[in-house]
Amino acid sequence: MVTIVQDFIPPGRRNRPGYKLDPKYITIHDTANTQAGADARAHARYLKGSSAASLPVSWHYTVDDKVIYQHLPLENGWHAGDGASGTGNRQSIGIEICENRDGNRAAAEANAAWLVAQLLKDFGLDLDRVKQHNYWSGKNCPRVIRGRVNGWAGFLAAVQSHLDPAVQTPLTGKPEAAVTQAQEWACQNSAHQRFIDIAPVYWHYGQLTGLRPEMLYSQSAHETAFGRYGGAVTPDQNNWARIKVKNPEGDQAEDYETFATPEDGVRGHFNHICAYVGYEPIGRPHPRFEVVKSMPWAGTVRYVEELGGKWTPQLDYGRDLVRNYLSGLLSTAQTPEEPAPLLDNGSEQPPSEIFKLFWWLLRKLKELFN
Ligand SMILES: [Zn+2]
Repeated sequence: MVTIVQDFIPPGRRNRPGYKLDPKYITIHDTANTQAGADARAHARYLKGSSAASLPVSWHYTVDDKVIYQHLPLENGWHAGDGASGTGNRQSIGIEICENRDGNRAAAEANAAWLVAQLLKDFGLDLDRVKQHNYWSGKNCPRVIRGRVNGWAGFLAAVQSHLDPAVQTPLTGKPEAAVTQAQEWACQNSAHQRFIDIAPVYWHYGQLTGLRPEMLYSQSAHETAFGRYGGAVTPDQNNWARIKVKNPEGDQAEDYETFATPEDGVRGHFNHICAYVGYEPIGRPHPRFEVVKSMPWAGTVRYVEELGGKWTPQLDYGRDLVRNYLSGLLSTAQTPEEPAPLLDNGSEQPPSEIFKLFWWLLRKLKELFN
């Protein structure tokens, strides 16, 4: 909940044209004003002042790291640069996000995401109705968000998290699955042997970091097709999470990090997520770790669903992970269900642990010879 201060531009001025607004879109801007003090209140003062009064310049809300100022009621503003009868100017709510250097930009963006979610709900609009100023006029605005890797996708993901707060799967905490359970799940999904073999290392680093190993193991299943790979990353890169190099140029093998050993690749995977949630890395982190650390949301991510728009531009990434991978792992029986026991002793007793182990070994052997 962020405070919204209503401080309207006086009627009758050129920057308050007064056409009724029936919002169909929301347009996002950055103020492009990095001066100290150029916060929401300062922009409200500017819009009400004499220099703006004769200019066709106005918008609906300015958001900084602490508060939101509303400058117009449900009337149009001149902010989209698409003409006097343009859809952007006449059918969208304009929101400016502050860039003042004495403000916390990440907090301002978070507040803006909250405001956008409220407006979408209020006016019954879907997320695809949120547009960049750039969409209407081609201007490089919102320039901060546009200038950042996955910036727009990340902003939309933040909006989405307010619309859909019920879906929350923690990235941190104690494991809710055992290694053997994860390995059984991997087997059932025709995992490559290397993926099954690496599972204990995931649980090891889970214990060291406090991140949930089954979550990262599920993510690796997704990123490497259960260790079968097949994309740009090759198995010898030991890169279980398709982590990029510091400055990738494309989507070739060399654009992805190479780790010295499979175990080191797991450490890199955990370190990468550590940057998302704000945990200290284990040992020396890989170069891309610093890129994540420089993101405004670094250290704030708590839930798998929040990876969407951050790990990749796909907003559904985290939800997909939970739905298509993690939930399968968690629902896999802790011990494998086996066919009829080798020796039918006629009793209803479940097979003993040693029998289960025997069956597991037998299946491993079968896989080796297949
Ligand atoms: Zn703009």
